[in-house]
Amino acid sequence: MSKKKFAQVAIDSPLRKLFDYRIPDGINKVEVGCRVLIPFGRRKVVGIIVRFIEQSDIASNRIKNIHTLLDDCSIFNQETFALISWAARYYHYPLGAALFSALPPALRKSQDTTTDIENVWELTDAPADNSLKRAPKQAKILAWLKEQTVPVTTSTLNTQFPNSQAAIRTLEAHGLMRKVPKAINHRNKEEAITCEVKLTNEQRLASEHIIESLNRFKVQLLEGVTGSGKTEVYFKVISHILTHSSEAQVLILVPEIGLTPQLQTRLTKRFGVNIGLLHSNITEKQRKQTWLKIAQGEIRIILGTRLAVFTPAIQLALIIVDEEHDASLKQQEGFLYHARDVAIYRAKQLNIPIILGSATPSFESLHNASVKKFAHLHLHNRALSNAMPSIHLADMRIEHASTILSAPLRQAMKNHLAAGQQVILFLNRRGYSPALLCHDCGWVADCESCDANMTYHRANNKLICHHCDSTRERPMHCPQCHSRNLIMLGHGTQRIEEALLDEFENYSTVRLDRDITRRKGMLEKILLEIQKQKHQIIIGTQILSKGHDFPNVSLVGILDIDYGIHSTDFRALERSAQLLIQVAGRSGRRDVHGEVFIQTHTPDHPLLQTLIQKGYASFAEQALAARSEWKLPPYTHHIAIRARSQKNHDVFVFLEKVKSVCVKLLPQNIIIQGPINAAMEKKAGQFRAFILLVIDQRGACTQHIDYCLQHIDTLKEARSVKWSVDVDPIDNFV
Ligand code: ADP
Ligand code: ZN
Ligand code: ZN
Repeated sequence: MSKKKFAQVAIDSPLRKLFDYRIPDGINKVEVGCRVLIPFGRRKVVGIIVRFIEQSDIASNRIKNIHTLLDDCSIFNQETFALISWAARYYHYPLGAALFSALPPALRKSQDTTTDIENVWELTDAPADNSLKRAPKQAKILAWLKEQTVPVTTSTLNTQFPNSQAAIRTLEAHGLMRKVPKAINHRNKEEAITCEVKLTNEQRLASEHIIESLNRFKVQLLEGVTGSGKTEVYFKVISHILTHSSEAQVLILVPEIGLTPQLQTRLTKRFGVNIGLLHSNITEKQRKQTWLKIAQGEIRIILGTRLAVFTPAIQLALIIVDEEHDASLKQQEGFLYHARDVAIYRAKQLNIPIILGSATPSFESLHNASVKKFAHLHLHNRALSNAMPSIHLADMRIEHASTILSAPLRQAMKNHLAAGQQVILFLNRRGYSPALLCHDCGWVADCESCDANMTYHRANNKLICHHCDSTRERPMHCPQCHSRNLIMLGHGTQRIEEALLDEFENYSTVRLDRDITRRKGMLEKILLEIQKQKHQIIIGTQILSKGHDFPNVSLVGILDIDYGIHSTDFRALERSAQLLIQVAGRSGRRDVHGEVFIQTHTPDHPLLQTLIQKGYASFAEQALAARSEWKLPPYTHHIAIRARSQKNHDVFVFLEKVKSVCVKLLPQNIIIQGPINAAMEKKAGQFRAFILLVIDQRGACTQHIDYCLQHIDTLKEARSVKWSVDVDPIDNFV
């Protein structure tokens, strides 16, 4: 093969273009996906080779040489490189920025890719000679090592035998034990299989169905009511895969970091293979090591949040997306990909199955199941309880306006608590009170940078904006009329906590919201305390809705569902219904029958009625019919072109210009709406608006849109705003 002359290199930048470099004589073995150090302006930056070319448009006296080759072979494997390239095209995101955001931060710099190989100790075949009789310490170490069934690292050995380094060294020197690289599969399978549970009939049928279609692309939507034991179905399939191949890897995506510890523990107990954890809250060094070990096939189960969808696993046999409806699977900054959708593409590319699990599937997935793109599997019953909880509506219109807990809910709390059960009170609003208002002139404490009220936090006596985090002292007088008559409107989790003090003082109460879990380790600590029944009343925000299994909770109170029902975003109903079912699902997961109270001012709301009387599936069907009628997703596709700036005028001038470019360059069948103000027009000092493209058929449009965006890139109006493209947006830009 003749020598490669030039390379087109992607760098970590918002520019939608690649840069040409000459490959100098010293560099011979180089391939697509290798990282290189290149001169860029006056700096040297890391780039990734995207393709090789015979000739460059840049004059030969101006084109620069690649400075250093950082990798011998592609840092991504071929499939992962193709996956990221596809995602960059689909989401109209610059390839360079996409490639770099898929790398662990440590590898975005010029760090090398060596892994720390972990060594473990084993006995050699050499017979122990008589000398050991006079060395009891050494004999003890050897005897202990002989007994072990799990791999023994140096640190385990040191813990077991403190101050025995000399003895260990002697044993090694005499060839009686040695260090070897940790094997891939070290625990014996017998042990793994013995702790498997007996599946329920439904679980068995679902897992058999999935196992039958292994080794080819198929999307399996596993819709199982809360507590139905979806995880056991995943485990059955994983176990089948791991026992039938010594190399196959499984990727499990979960929406929240908070869900990883529980699942990791269960996986470790069940499977004797290396499990790699990937999310944004582990150290850079660890994340890099895990990533590289996945690439080498040493890690067999990859458990992570959305970013793990791009890891270069080499033998992927199955992908699982748990809680597939969860909005956290969509990245909300920079590269705006949806991990579920990228995972589906990846499964297709690799011709492997993918399981999407949820008690409340997204409307997209339900739609795909109804048009037979996805297989649809059901778990109708709970694994450990005979029944789903009973749901009651508490009509707040008959309560006093300032009532926080309705009479029926308070009574139910007393009953369940007296029976030794735990109670969850759910409210999706942290802080004490969401509005501070002057009773005399109507002044409201607003955030100066956002179109939003400040929330009063009693713990530190401050006003905090939940949208930009700006904080200020709580005024004692109205700044407008100097009245001291300031009142607090509405309630947040802190106020609920306070309201319980009198009536439920004999029970321990704990609050679980972002103010609390921001501190490292707090979420895990409180979750454990709840499991151990240290607290009887748990007050929390949506953190509580995510997949947790609290055996002793038998009552759930949903304090305010009206907020979601009356939102302007067409997706709000879907979200509220999912949240409601998920939170309700924390109740009665074992022997005691569960109850749920939902407080609302609109108990007759038709969709709320459907949801409660007929369940999520009927609700979704009805809501989907409305979406179809209004030509909303999933019946059409949305792409938003968003802009923000400190000057509202600049945003609109830019978006008008964008609109005219779109009208000129896009095919007629794409409907162009806007510019539209974001639901929250001003946030953190920036005015925000967007243009919405409504598209019938995605595929055919990609090129047109790319062309359009290249044009927009060159607009002079683009320089005075920040703009981005959001494909399949999941909110109105709140
Ligand atoms: P889901 O994720 O569907 O809400 P989980 O997987 O958390 O449900 O299961 C709920 C509880 O039921 C867990 O404690 C789990 O260990 C238990 N469980 C699930 N399946 C079985 C089974 N077949 N036998 C015994 N316990 C089970
Ligand atoms: Zn006033
Ligand atoms: Zn703000």
